[in-house]
Amino acid sequence: MNEKQMICIMCPIGCHVTVDENLNVTGNKCPRGKNYAIEEMTCPKRILTTTVKTDSKMMPRLSVKTDKPIEKSLLFEALEKLNHITVKKNVKIGDVIVKHILDTDVDIIATKLLIRE
Ligand code: SF4
Repeated sequence: MNEKQMICIMCPIGCHVTVDENLNVTGNKCPRGKNYAIEEMTCPKRILTTTVKTDSKMMPRLSVKTDKPIEKSLLFEALEKLNHITVKKNVKIGDVIVKHILDTDVDIIATKLLIRE
């Protein structure tokens, strides 16, 4: 039988969860674990953190991340797109740098303050 075992990361308890090919989930102590396991089996997602270029000499790179998990299969394409971005404005933490990256519902947001000289 094709089963996958994983640790649920939705809370600090970290249940050891097993999901089979029919998406039956065992080992979860609550429904969030079932949802997590099914998503991991069918469409895994991850938070992406990286940096993008800026036009600031003092701070040539700005830390950014996705505002929610993005499909794992899109991570490299998203990184490639972000390689071509240069931020040319002051930004606050949480400001949107790229809205709806790769036509998803995921935004890229700043995780650092950027005040250009
Ligand atoms: S299944 Fe529920 S209780 Fe267990 S780690 Fe996931 S969120 Fe926490």
